[in-house]
Amino acid sequence: MSYSDETRCIHSDKKLIGDHPFGAISVPIFQSATFAHPDVDQSSGYDYSRESNPTRSELEEIVSSLENASDSIATSTGMAAIVLAMSVLPYGSHVICTEDLYGGSVRLFKRLEDQEGFTFTYTDTSDAENIVNAINEKTKAVFIETPSNPTMRVTDIAKVAEITGKNDLLLIVDNTFLTPIFQKPLLLGADISLHSGTKFLSGHNDTLAGFVCVKDEELAGKLRFNYKTTGASLSAFDSFLVIRGIKTLHLRLERQQKNALKIAEALKANANVKRVYYAGLEDSSGYEIMKKQATGFGSMISFSVTSSELAKKILKKVKLISYAESLGGVESLITYPLKQTHGDVPEDVRNRLGITDDFLRLSVGVGAL
Ligand code: PLP
Repeated sequence: MSYSDETRCIHSDKKLIGDHPFGAISVPIFQSATFAHPDVDQSSGYDYSRESNPTRSELEEIVSSLENASDSIATSTGMAAIVLAMSVLPYGSHVICTEDLYGGSVRLFKRLEDQEGFTFTYTDTSDAENIVNAINEKTKAVFIETPSNPTMRVTDIAKVAEITGKNDLLLIVDNTFLTPIFQKPLLLGADISLHSGTKFLSGHNDTLAGFVCVKDEELAGKLRFNYKTTGASLSAFDSFLVIRGIKTLHLRLERQQKNALKIAEALKANANVKRVYYAGLEDSSGYEIMKKQATGFGSMISFSVTSSELAKKILKKVKLISYAESLGGVESLITYPLKQTHGDVPEDVRNRLGITDDFLRLSVGVGAL
């Protein structure tokens, strides 16, 4: 039996309600580090919570049903999910990436370059030819964000999957901005769809989490082995919070997207705004691809204003919106990528992409507009 996404947000593809002890509607928080064995070589199904935990398993099933994954692994943060995904690549791999990635990914990749012999080519993946041209004999993976963070460039996932398929490369998609409600990379040919679950999935700016979702069972096995070995597991309590958040994911996204479109249009009409980056604007460069591969445009907007002074004034004067990092929650947050999320992106790259001192990024919340 396969349910709609709205129903999966509550039940996964199983009817979970009533399956819990005493008919509990809400999943119990199995706050236990370890589980007793009935006998030698026997297990209740759970042995030790670093490897697996019943509350976390329920969350992983929900995420797998939404992502159409054979397995989804819940990690303690989004960065832990990215570290885990990269852990299946051999020492010295070459990886091709979207050039405006989340700054934390850039920082991690720099460490992999300095300490683990990796090399990375950052390119505009919205043009698939750039990927083809960047492939060399050491290339093992393509890592993309679409829409990208923070300039909202759109990459055609199915087109890139054709290239990675032909060249035996892993296609990894950071799906944080759209979530599986709006975009399902695994159905478009990606091998791994990953998330900062801290954002839309948990949705309330109160929990850190991450997910690595895969369709191939052999790859899932390798990831599970590295997960239990390195131990960045999501706690039972945080798993409970993310389960609770996902129950309203589709409702929040709908409202956030509606608000975002209104704000993007208002920003476009404002004389103090130089440029608006929102994938839902009909004249944005990736609009047609977005319509083809996603069912929504999300609620992340970036914009540049006429001066650095004005950008700073906005950050000081916002009232309901908080000047804070992060995104995807019910509250609206505004960030200054130059100093925050993208501080670790090399200066020349930031300048080329327009991540300058007049550039702001807004995560639109659910309040009424
Ligand atoms: N991926 C994207 C697109 C992000 O925006 C972030 C964080 O902002 C991350 C990954 C990392 O997630 P976390 O902060 O949960 O470690």
